[in-house]
Amino acid sequence: KLYNEVQDLKGNIRVYCRIRPFLPGQNEKHTAIEYIGENGELVVVNPLKQGKDSRRLFKFNKVFGPTANQEDVFKDTQPLIQSVLDGYNVCIFAYGQTGSGKTYTMTGPDMALEKDWGVNYRALHDLFQISQSRRSSILYEVGLQMVEIYNEQVRDLLTSDGSQKKYPFLRFLGSTYHNQPNGLAVPDASMHHVNSTYDVLELMKVGFMNRAIGATALNERSSRSHSILTVHVRGTDLKNDSVLRGCLHLVDLAGSERVDRSEAAGDRLREAQHINKSLSALGDVIFALAQKNSHVPYRNSKLTQVLQSSLGGQAKTIMFVQLNPDVESYSETISTLKFAERVS
Ligand code: ADP
Ligand code: MG
Repeated sequence: KLYNEVQDLKGNIRVYCRIRPFLPGQNEKHTAIEYIGENGELVVVNPLKQGKDSRRLFKFNKVFGPTANQEDVFKDTQPLIQSVLDGYNVCIFAYGQTGSGKTYTMTGPDMALEKDWGVNYRALHDLFQISQSRRSSILYEVGLQMVEIYNEQVRDLLTSDGSQKKYPFLRFLGSTYHNQPNGLAVPDASMHHVNSTYDVLELMKVGFMNRAIGATALNERSSRSHSILTVHVRGTDLKNDSVLRGCLHLVDLAGSERVDRSEAAGDRLREAQHINKSLSALGDVIFALAQKNSHVPYRNSKLTQVLQSSLGGQAKTIMFVQLNPDVESYSETISTLKFAERVS
């Protein structure tokens, strides 16, 4: 009963925890995860302490253990996809240290296998299915943007020539969204009209390629930048000519790990500072929303500015808190869990 009340209080923000399995070569005995409850409880153990003091209990809407598959993880998210087509804004993001499974949850390990599909593809697949089934009364148009935020700069990931020719820039979508309350957060980023999951897969390939171009061997870009896939939906009700708009943000955040100031310097330190700043700005925004504060500090980072339309108000938010089960990750695990605790 208490659990249901907690859920109601949380209102438009739901927090799920996902613990990835041990990878080949890791020793499963060395885990910081002691207990996963059916009702969202998670107990972690501090390897350096003994007895009662060594354990901490955290509570989520749900905890997905290492054996949960992509379909299990998507199940509770599914109803929100329908609400995008009903004109709601939705934001789904994955938070956690590098290697904790953020990309696995959002995108999946392999686009070629449908069972491996992450939240991104599943969400779009459903979106198209539902929109087709409603086609007799509502005409839906779907536009896609993909950007990356690196060092507080927003970069369009879908501007390569090939993609531009195949998916012409949709000026009408861009210009109409400008003046809308749920307006286009990145009006400069190209908008691509998509009609099927196949179109989405093709575009995302382009996005991933463009994202990789910025990477060097020393510095794996994808863990140092936030990637945001934005799906804009416009539905025209043919009976009364009314239009509704919904927007879905799918966000793979930069790794949340803290960087040792004494070890990092130059670019690496600057990156780390930008990541810290934007992740704490995100935490502050969600915290303010959860507390129902009248002032929500969206302006403190590019990330929160871009996501503004789908955080707060009528918008619905899902956060996947990703954990690496290894005991070596204990201190990062605790810091990830504290972030989650603050916003839930
Ligand atoms: P992140 O994006 O947080 O840096 P990744 O998603 O790249 O982490 O995951 C790190 C590694 O763990 C990858 O090899 C990935 O395939 C694997 N992995 C993550 N989550 C799972 C999972 N649920 N099941 C199996 N392997 C996983
Ligand atoms: Mg990743």
